Amino acid sequence: MGAAAAEPAAVSLDWRCRCGSLHLRLDPGAGMHGICYCRDCQAFHHHLDAAEWLRPGGGSDLFATTPDRLEVVSGAEHIALLRLGPKGIFRWYAACCGSPLVNGPPTRGVAFTSLHVAGLSDPAAVGPVAAYLNCKGATGPTEGRETPGRQFIFPILFRAIAARLSGRYRQTPFFRADGTPVAEPHVLSRAERAAAAPTG
Ligand SMILES: [Zn+2]
Ligand SMILES: [Zn+2]
Repeated sequence: MGAAAAEPAAVSLDWRCRCGSLHLRLDPGAGMHGICYCRDCQAFHHHLDAAEWLRPGGGSDLFATTPDRLEVVSGAEHIALLRLGPKGIFRWYAACCGSPLVNGPPTRGVAFTSLHVAGLSDPAAVGPVAAYLNCKGATGPTEGRETPGRQFIFPILFRAIAARLSGRYRQTPFFRADGTPVAEPHVLSRAERAAAAPTG
């Protein structure tokens, strides 16, 4: 898979929302650190009034992994869900203080999740940034050049398929045993979506 997919050392990392009420633990043993500059990821932050968690240029700092590597320690009742539109991906956040938690597919069957690195106790522990995505959406200079999709999509697909085949996809903080999401998704209205649009 090349140097870009090098695995960080296996340690357990704490993730906390901005107010500290929601606490998770991440096993960063397999995943990829990337920055996404797309307008939707920026809108997610703006809607939550969480722009302080964006990187320069409007980047979302993400660690793409499988959901079984995340475990809620406390504050599960604060986990909330929104979609930027009726077909939008699931964007999970801490409702207590409006902190972006993870981006993920709208189904448990696809074992993929992108954790917002800003909440980690030691962001450097997820390794160097290996992918810069959707640089066209940046509001300023990006920290790196656009990464070709094949460099990150195959390792992610491989992990999602392995989790599916082993049954590990069922271990997730975001879906119940019957496969339904643990929170009802709130779909942003057109007015809410417009208000959250990034400027610049
Ligand atoms: Zn909070
Ligand atoms: Zn994005």
